[in-house]
Amino acid sequence: MAADWEKTPCFINQCSKCCRQTEMPLLISDITRLEAAGHDSSSFSIVLPDGSVRLANSPATQACVFLKTESPDLHAPGTCQAWDSRPEGCRIYPLVLDELDEPFLDELCPHRDQFPPPPVGLKGRLLVLAQTLDGETR
Ligand code: SF4
Ligand code: SF4
Repeated sequence: MAADWEKTPCFINQCSKCCRQTEMPLLISDITRLEAAGHDSSSFSIVLPDGSVRLANSPATQACVFLKTESPDLHAPGTCQAWDSRPEGCRIYPLVLDELDEPFLDELCPHRDQFPPPPVGLKGRLLVLAQTLDGETR
């Protein structure tokens, strides 16, 4: 479950879809925060050939290693075990940017229609996230 700005659709629907087969990028600050919470970065991150870092999926569940779940089913429930320390991208999703840097609700979120308008400041956080990720992978 993600969505710092409105948890309700995630919890009401017992949804953890966006935590499965995740490709969530990690900022250096995300890694630092998760390590400070006691998590070993070698267990929760992978480095792609372009140098970018992403959350790792569990081989058993094909879900984020932080998702507590009994099933690899995309629609099975699950609970984030790193909620307070989770990555910035998890906090902002399902808001994402289009190619013109305009925010929209990702159509991959099955409950996007239940989210209220995003709070003031979230687009700014999303832009900062995108720019920081871009800078960190150069
Ligand atoms: S896919 Fe959408 S509703 Fe489901 S957990 Fe993610 S943000 Fe919440
Ligand atoms: S860190 Fe938590 S919210 Fe983010 S993908 Fe993993 S389980 Fe989901």
